[in-house]
Amino acid sequence: TEELIRRSEKLSVVGQLAAGVAHEIRNPLATIRGFVQLIQEQGALAQPYDKIMLSELDRINFIVSEFLVLAKPQAQNFESAELRSILDDIIVLLGSQAILHNVEIVPRFASSMPPLVCEVNQLKQVFLNVLKNALEAMPEGGKITIDLFEVPDENMVAARICDEGVGIPADLLPRLGEPFFTNKETGTGLGLMVSQRIIANHKGSMKIESAVGQGTCVEIRLPAAVIPRKEQAG
Ligand code: ADP
Ligand code: MG
Repeated sequence: TEELIRRSEKLSVVGQLAAGVAHEIRNPLATIRGFVQLIQEQGALAQPYDKIMLSELDRINFIVSEFLVLAKPQAQNFESAELRSILDDIIVLLGSQAILHNVEIVPRFASSMPPLVCEVNQLKQVFLNVLKNALEAMPEGGKITIDLFEVPDENMVAARICDEGVGIPADLLPRLGEPFFTNKETGTGLGLMVSQRIIANHKGSMKIESAVGQGTCVEIRLPAAVIPRKEQAG
């Protein structure tokens, strides 16, 4: 019933996406084919071309793996986890990239927060997407703050990630999360869409505020785990 509805919803999203994915993959494939043809005709390949082929292959791989997150029949594996440890892992993962981009990541985590019930790997993917967007929005470097806090009234935990980047024009805000909406030369425009789906799957919410030239904040709220009350011991 509810599961069926969810599955058919997902199918239609996957169906819509499939056409776009096919389109996105055709360009890098055409590039690679061209170079392979060159090898055939000239017997060898000059230096820069192998690099281009590799990066085009990486691009295909990346698009397909983002797509698979949506298309994979989800044997969902929800478990109890701490938001702060999820974010700690992602910060480590992005550490060297942040240093390269001259970006400082500043965690400001509340000292105690209730746990979540979640798909850890999927949430990691969400925060990876959001933090990468923040990094990419600051080509000149800057600061990313990550606030983790509790919203007790709503029984939610929240992560608010703010950058000092280029910002997003107000008229483009509604288009965020649209498949293949990107303004980056090597972007896929799938990150936010995948992230929104994952957050919705967790019955959470994602809100994006932005000011051009000042920066962007992404706030993600997720339901806190309901901690069973200890039974009154006799
Ligand atoms: P991609 O990163 O591949 O472009 P996303 O779905 O992650 O795809 O993001 C879509 C678009 O939203 C980006 O191309 C960018 O224009 C805009 N965007 C997202 N996050 C930010 C941010 N923190 N600052 C500025 N623009 C952003
Ligand atoms: Mg992105």
